[in-house]
Amino acid sequence: MAIEIGIDIGGTKIAAAAYDKDGRELAQEVLPTPASYDAFLDTCRKLVAVLEEKSGRATSIGVCAPYADETTNANVPALIGKNLSGDLEKIFGHIIPFANDANCAALAEATEGAGRGYASMFGLILGTGVGGGFILNGKIMAGANGMAAEIGHLPLPHYEPIDGSRVLCGCGQTGCIEKLISGSALARLHHQRTENDVSAKQMGVLAAKGNKDVLETLDAYYTTVAKAMVAILHSFDPEIVTVSGGLSSLPGLYDEVPKRWGRFAVNKNPVTQLVPSAFGSMAGLRGAALLGKRT
Ligand SMILES: [Zn+2]
Repeated sequence: MAIEIGIDIGGTKIAAAAYDKDGRELAQEVLPTPASYDAFLDTCRKLVAVLEEKSGRATSIGVCAPYADETTNANVPALIGKNLSGDLEKIFGHIIPFANDANCAALAEATEGAGRGYASMFGLILGTGVGGGFILNGKIMAGANGMAAEIGHLPLPHYEPIDGSRVLCGCGQTGCIEKLISGSALARLHHQRTENDVSAKQMGVLAAKGNKDVLETLDAYYTTVAKAMVAILHSFDPEIVTVSGGLSSLPGLYDEVPKRWGRFAVNKNPVTQLVPSAFGSMAGLRGAALLGKRT
């Protein structure tokens, strides 16, 4: 039986899961991300050993992490300058493909999730951070520098002051889409409008209960999201956009944004669909396993 293992490396935890050939999850394990590189490799070894004990010997392993390449990573300091896939290959005796987590998440949605059956799909992550992955004919389009689909660090098209102040972004620029549509940006917009401090998560709860102030903030927020989506439509023009992340369950998101994006696009009636992701935060893990399977 094929046992496909995916490893999803994060700044605070490393998750791993085993799947069968039909994508059914057989087992999952999570351990904290250690500080040193040796401990890091040992954690990967432990995770795979536990999964193999539960499900059988791995036939393939794939890895994803929150950065574009293995040498310039700020989110997981232990890995900076290390040849992670090379070292994991020595440990496991497999070729271990590696990809950015947003790209892996998009691959999972396009192959087995909400984007299945579409030739072009953008997987948008809308939460604490904003990013994405673009899949064309079943393949990740990562780009020459691993920067394709990193829409969080494009400036917002058709920016107006109502969208929020020009907050400095981690990339060193101001006006980035991430700083205008992330969870903290939504909370900031609400504070600007009402002087109330409410988290984005809590705003989702209040909106579902019909809170007028929050619904008015969301109305302004969805216009900003529609502008951000135009950066995706004009760059990739996908048939479908799947949304994951903490803000993906905001009431009205999937109706209000497509109503507005034509206003800012060259084509006034885009046929692109906007839908929730099928796998949510588990998509990266599943995509890493798919990547391994294809190698
Ligand atoms: Zn930025």
